[in-house]
Amino acid sequence: MRYLSTRGDQTPRRFCEILLEGLAPDGGLYLPERYPQVDAATLAQWRHLPYHALAFEILSLYIDDIPAEDLRALCAKTYTAEVFGDEDITPLRELEDGVYLEGLSNGPTLAFKDMAMQLLGNLFEYELGRRGEELNILGATSGDTGSAAEYAMRGKKGVRVFMTSPDGRMSPFQQAQMFSLQDANIHNIAIEGVFDDCQDIVKAVSNDLGFKRQYRIGTVNSINWARLLAQVVYYFKGWFLATDNAGGEVSFTVPSGNFGNVCAGHVARMMGLPIRQLVVATNENDVLDEFFRTGVYRVRGSADTHETSSPSMDISKASNFERFVFDLLGRDGSRTRSLFHDQLGSAGQFDLSSDPVFADAAARFGFVSGRSTHADRLATIRDTDKRFAVLIDTHTADGLKVAREHLQPGVPMVVLETALPIKFAATIVEALGREPERPAKFEGIEALPKRVTKLPADAERVKQYIAAHCH
Ligand SMILES: *Cc1c(COP(=O)(O)O)cnc(C)c1O
Repeated sequence: MRYLSTRGDQTPRRFCEILLEGLAPDGGLYLPERYPQVDAATLAQWRHLPYHALAFEILSLYIDDIPAEDLRALCAKTYTAEVFGDEDITPLRELEDGVYLEGLSNGPTLAFKDMAMQLLGNLFEYELGRRGEELNILGATSGDTGSAAEYAMRGKKGVRVFMTSPDGRMSPFQQAQMFSLQDANIHNIAIEGVFDDCQDIVKAVSNDLGFKRQYRIGTVNSINWARLLAQVVYYFKGWFLATDNAGGEVSFTVPSGNFGNVCAGHVARMMGLPIRQLVVATNENDVLDEFFRTGVYRVRGSADTHETSSPSMDISKASNFERFVFDLLGRDGSRTRSLFHDQLGSAGQFDLSSDPVFADAAARFGFVSGRSTHADRLATIRDTDKRFAVLIDTHTADGLKVAREHLQPGVPMVVLETALPIKFAATIVEALGREPERPAKFEGIEALPKRVTKLPADAERVKQYIAAHCH
């Protein structure tokens, strides 16, 4: 399999060449040159595979520069019941008739980002070891991504993590999750500033190409193709768990921010997995809902990005969206470039409402959408607790609310559960008047010793810190 860029660069690259990369050199995102097709006979063969073996089958269609036995071992080492707390890895439970939750958040940091990040940690260690190289991952986090990256990379050979976060602005639970890690290769940097300051620092350091090369700076953000590919697997798993041997179509609802999770659903559907609808659920930050309703993609400024009670979906610009638009436009790289580089660059928006391809988003690609608010989240959390004795987090609540607006008779609806409620305890208390249950392994983590360095919002100071800790 070769990979190309959504902005027209056709230089063929193999999986391991793009594994450690972010954007393609022309500013686009990497996609496979084609989607391998999976037919009914193959699905029947895969139905009863354990998760790690299913992951190997799917990944091996996209990865031909890691020997099969090595890839198989990497999958087996990643997707264990020990790490993910369940033999199915992503277990399904039914709420009302035909509406299911697929649990993606039983990994080490209790959010779905573990599903991909845990594999990425093992892939990075493998590939860096093979090349005899090292990588220093520099990131900015306001919560889920940073902890998922740290738990994936802790103790890995050849990898160090330097994770900046806004000092005092994460929830006490999230701070404790990250800062209690004692691994020598994990560095928490609390920046005296807000999340945007952290992002600016990461950009400034990455733009210093000399420093970047000398200190082998990399990232693990959501545009990484390997992360997206790892997420394709649980759409297959969810489909198997929601259907019997006769198969049939299934719809998925995905609480969305950067469009990474639901883009993996798009890839699964393009491979031939019988998915009827891909329902994109947003919170008050409804850039994506607006596009699927109107055909207008209008990026917001940070002043127009609301801080909500489903904070991992508070985005103003969906970094993976370009991948879908490239497919929507019939893989026309120069048109994709003109929308995302020229039009977004100059006007901050583009408009496909009068273009015939816009109708294809729903008709050919199955995309529909909806939006949820703080009041909806509270109501959905209460209702789910009361009727089913199931406690869901705020992001999953956004999904469930929107899913119910798109139910179709006879088509199971699988809502992806993207985090556990304990991560967003304040809103659970607001909804139910009680604290969510805490998994035993996180009992008392706030009291553990913290490993964190406080620095001013100054890229030079962060560079000095990295340089001093790169050995
Ligand atoms: C990251 C995240 C999302 C959004 O996923 P995208 O891939 O960015 O669309 C939703 N819910 C939770 C809990 C998350 O951590």
